[in-house]
Amino acid sequence: MNKLLNFFERIISLLMPEHCPFCTTVIERDELCCKSCLKSTPANGILQGVTGGYRCTSVHLYKGKLKRGMLRFKFKRKTQYSEQLAFFLYQNIERNYPDMVFDYITYVPMHEKSQRKRGFNQCELLAKDLSKLMHIPCRASLIKTKNTTPQHKLSRKKRRTNLKGAFKVIDKKAVCGKSILIIDDIVTTGSTLGECAKTLQKCKPAHICCATVLASGRIC
Ligand SMILES: [Zn+2]
Repeated sequence: MNKLLNFFERIISLLMPEHCPFCTTVIERDELCCKSCLKSTPANGILQGVTGGYRCTSVHLYKGKLKRGMLRFKFKRKTQYSEQLAFFLYQNIERNYPDMVFDYITYVPMHEKSQRKRGFNQCELLAKDLSKLMHIPCRASLIKTKNTTPQHKLSRKKRRTNLKGAFKVIDKKAVCGKSILIIDDIVTTGSTLGECAKTLQKCKPAHICCATVLASGRIC
């Protein structure tokens, strides 16, 4: 039976080869990315603060191979990259939050209209794959009730006010007293993660930490 499965796996790899998320080289099915990209992936994350004073760690700056991988993941529907990007998140979280024991992982929600348009929420996919690696549950804690202008289209000043009151806690009891890790794909000014953290904070969690794959610009 195993031989038969291996045979089918080999056929699938030939017909549908896996690609490195960063440079698109063909890779083995069990590889996260090609050997050259794995070597050039940063060993240390960037620790930064986000709006509201919450800790945030990011794997890499918004540039190079990880930026290209992220853009393909989000805009070219390369959802299979999630597992590989989540692995980088996982390594970075283990390194930068060694003191934290999280009750669960959650993620920045999208407004239902935007999610319907894209077909998926990249943060949710990352959080679910990360949850498997960290062996802790992933749960939706927030919903986005306002369909706001995309943050990247706004000035730094307007980004802060654009998201005010945009999120709502789904289940207050599930937040109270819990240590929560919020996942986002990219942190720019920290306004989105800051607003999510502030919304959860109203329900008195024990701790909130944030983690993103990429960090772009100066966080305040
Ligand atoms: Zn590569």
